[in-house]
Amino acid sequence: MQQLPFKLIQKNKLTYDVYELVFTTSDFISVEPGQYVLFMLPKSKLRRAYSIGYTDGQTFTFIIKQLDGGVGSTEICSLEIGEEIIGMVPLGHFVLKNTLAPKLFIGTGTGFAPLYFMIRALMDLGSQTPLVYVFGIRTIADIFYIDELNRIKQNYPKFDYQLFLSQEDSEDTIRGRVTDFLTEENINNYGEFYLCGSPAMVKDARGKLEQLGITKEQVLFEQY
Ligand SMILES: Cc1cc2nc3c(=O)[nH]c(=O)nc-3n(C[C@H](O)[C@H](O)[C@H](O)COP(=O)(O)OP(=O)(O)OC[C@H]3O[C@@H](n4cnc5c(N)ncnc54)[C@H](O)[C@@H]3O)c2cc1C
Repeated sequence: MQQLPFKLIQKNKLTYDVYELVFTTSDFISVEPGQYVLFMLPKSKLRRAYSIGYTDGQTFTFIIKQLDGGVGSTEICSLEIGEEIIGMVPLGHFVLKNTLAPKLFIGTGTGFAPLYFMIRALMDLGSQTPLVYVFGIRTIADIFYIDELNRIKQNYPKFDYQLFLSQEDSEDTIRGRVTDFLTEENINNYGEFYLCGSPAMVKDARGKLEQLGITKEQVLFEQY
C-alpha cells in the first residue's frame, strides 16, 4: 500500500449529483479491479474511501455522488482541476475471483464503479466468460455511463446489462428493484455474484441468493 498525491485532471458532471473525477499519479500503482483509494481530505480532515472506476495504473477514474449534506463528497467534488489530494492505495478485498464462472454483477447508484472496473478488466483480457450487469437507479435522471455499457455490449457479445428504475417507468428499462432480478430461473446461469451498493440492497440480495441455494463463497460484496 502506498500514500501519494492524486492530481485532478478532469471533472465531469454525469447527473445532477454524480461526478466523474479523473486523477493522475506520478508513480505507476498496481491495483486489482474492485479496490478503492482512501483519500485524506485537507479541508475537513476527513478520510473517505472511493472505489476505483477504472485505472491504467496512473490515471484513476472515480464516480462519486455528492450527497446532500455530505461533507467529504462535497469537498472532493468541489476540487478544481490541477489540485492535489493524498490517497492511500490499493485497499480492499472486493476483487474478482480467478475463475471462468459466469458472473452476475448487481450495482445500485455509484456502486457501479468497482463493478464497471471488473467488467472492463475482463473485457480487456479478452475473457469469454458470460457477464451480466444489473444496474439499479431511481429515475432516468440518475442514469450515467449508458453509452459506455452499450459500447461494451457491442464489442463483447458475452456481456449484457439490464437497467432497473425503482421510481419511474421508461422504455427499455425495467420498473422495480435490482433484487427483483434474483429469481431461480435468472440466477441458474451464474456461478459468481458481485454486489455493490447500499447496505439495504446488499442485505436483500444476499438474503435472496441464500434462499435460492447460492453459497456464501459464491457471493462477494461491498456496501456504502
Ligand atoms: C470501500 C468504499 C468504497 C466507496 N466508494 C464510493 C464510490 O465509488 N462512490 C461514492 O459516491 N461513494 C463511495 N463510498 C462512500 C464514501 O466513502 C462516503 O461515505 C460518501 O461519499 C459520503 O461521505 P460524506 O462525507 O459526503 O458524507 P457524510 O458527511 O459522512 O454524511 C453521511 C450521511 O449523512 C447525511 N448527512 C450529513 N450531514 C447531514 C445534514 N446536515 N443533514 C442531513 N443529512 C446529512 C449525508 O447526506 C450522508 O447520507 C465508498 C465507501 C466505501 C467504504
